[in-house]
Amino acid sequence: MKITRLVPHILLERGGLRRLKEFTEQLFPDRPGYDVFVVDEVHRSTGTWEKLAPRPDDLLLAVDVFAHEPKTGQVDDLCRRIREEKGETLPRVVVGVGGGSAMDIAKAVSVLLTNPGGSADYQGWDLVKEKPVAKIAVPTLAGTGSEASRTAVLSGPVRKLGINSEHSMYDAVLMDPDLLETADPEQAFYTGMDGFIHAVEALTGSAINALGRPFAEKSKEAIQRYFSGEGNAEELLVGSYLGGASIANSSVGICHALSYGVSFHLGWRHGIANAIVFNRLEAFYGDDVEAFQAMVRRNGIDLPQGVTKGVPEETLGRMAEMAYLLERDLVSALGPDYRSILPPERILELYRRM
Ligand code: NAD
Ligand code: ZN
Repeated sequence: MKITRLVPHILLERGGLRRLKEFTEQLFPDRPGYDVFVVDEVHRSTGTWEKLAPRPDDLLLAVDVFAHEPKTGQVDDLCRRIREEKGETLPRVVVGVGGGSAMDIAKAVSVLLTNPGGSADYQGWDLVKEKPVAKIAVPTLAGTGSEASRTAVLSGPVRKLGINSEHSMYDAVLMDPDLLETADPEQAFYTGMDGFIHAVEALTGSAINALGRPFAEKSKEAIQRYFSGEGNAEELLVGSYLGGASIANSSVGICHALSYGVSFHLGWRHGIANAIVFNRLEAFYGDDVEAFQAMVRRNGIDLPQGVTKGVPEETLGRMAEMAYLLERDLVSALGPDYRSILPPERILELYRRM
């Protein structure tokens, strides 16, 4: 039996971060305890940090998501710090403030505070047993859909894989469009395109069902409007949320499969890696690639070119093999015969054009 869960509480309001305390009180009336804020370190200098206004007992923890994408070790370190400070007393709520990286780290912290072992033990599907600490997402970039999805993507000692579980889902999202304003426009574009590409892949794949489709359609529309200069930041945040909500009832596709190696072997971050790959997938996603390229031009984005130049053939071969790890997504995109439609030689040709 597949039961779909959605994030049940949303506050969408310009300047809404100032009402976080009130929001938390309404959601968890009379619940005692301190709050833990897991905040993207960048916000020490964006003005967002000051707006959090923690109570004396709360813990404000900064995470560095600039150096690399989220790691299991970061999650375990944060849990250790919380236990050192507070012993076995659990927080009332964990608040994740940032882009997909900080939101994913905060999710994982809320899970690991009530489950034994380290976060790498839970990378996979439905491995979490105990109910987590309640959590609230405060996105400061829009596009990944982490605020609404059931996964927390982490790189561990062995692999990059999400903690995929109902328990990874946020209990509430506070969307404050003001918080997006400090983001670097290129970064905001690439994160937005991650959401656009999720929606394109979901809508063109066979894995999508009647519950996933309307979420993905509206997500795509909102993100595309925003980056075509028509929408506003509120709609973009909603588009990101809807994209996350569609994920459990659809799948990604060829772009995410091919971008895996571009991130892992060539070091490009998730959003930009997807953009580099999607730009070359006109044979599979024709009109959507054209729409994407129009958004690239409109937003004055200088998409990296020649990223595979000088990369040894052997590395490219390993990248191609890596794409097949996303088998479920390739089946959704191309059918069970995906290997004959997209053999390693064809993947290599695509990589050479990036
Ligand atoms: P990010 O969170 O990695 O942030 C990118 C950069 O922008 C960082 O340097 C960060 O400090 C900075 N930043 C964030 N908000 C800012 C703001 N308001 N002002 C100034 N700087 C700001 O970027 P992202 O694209 O949102 O997230 C990528 C991560 O999300 C990847 O690790 C990816 O695997 C993950 N992801 C998760 C899901 C999910 O469902 N859980 C889905 C897709 C992607
Ligand atoms: Zn993605």
